[in-house]
Amino acid sequence: MFGESPKVKVCKNRCEMTKELHEGCKMSDKSHDKYRQKLLNRAAEIQASSEISQESRKAVELDQTSVGRVSRIDAIQSQAMALANERNRAAEQQRITSALARIESGEYGLCIICEEEIDPKRLNFDPSLPTCITCASRNK
Ligand SMILES: [Zn+2]
Repeated sequence: MFGESPKVKVCKNRCEMTKELHEGCKMSDKSHDKYRQKLLNRAAEIQASSEISQESRKAVELDQTSVGRVSRIDAIQSQAMALANERNRAAEQQRITSALARIESGEYGLCIICEEEIDPKRLNFDPSLPTCITCASRNK
């Protein structure tokens, strides 16, 4: 209807060539699947540990009658730690969500700042990392 529809699948790595032709494109769909799986696994892990630690994030006040002052301070400290851990988990979930979105949009594996390819070693270490090592160290 609208003339010839393009049959060639353009490489998801945003290069202009087709997947078959572009040998230089390292980030194949297959490795995207691998990273997607890793990201989903990690998200499930975080979810699980968040649920496990839910207990320790509950208000300290609940224990007021049963514990002394010192152990109450302990309780407050461990609650603060649990809350900090939860914040870290939330931040990582956020990174994972946006990494998954980048996989869908075909931008995954490219640094969000300089758009250079991110070292696969870096992605294997943490597939949710959005930047290359150069940009990451520059922004520290
Ligand atoms: Zn970069």
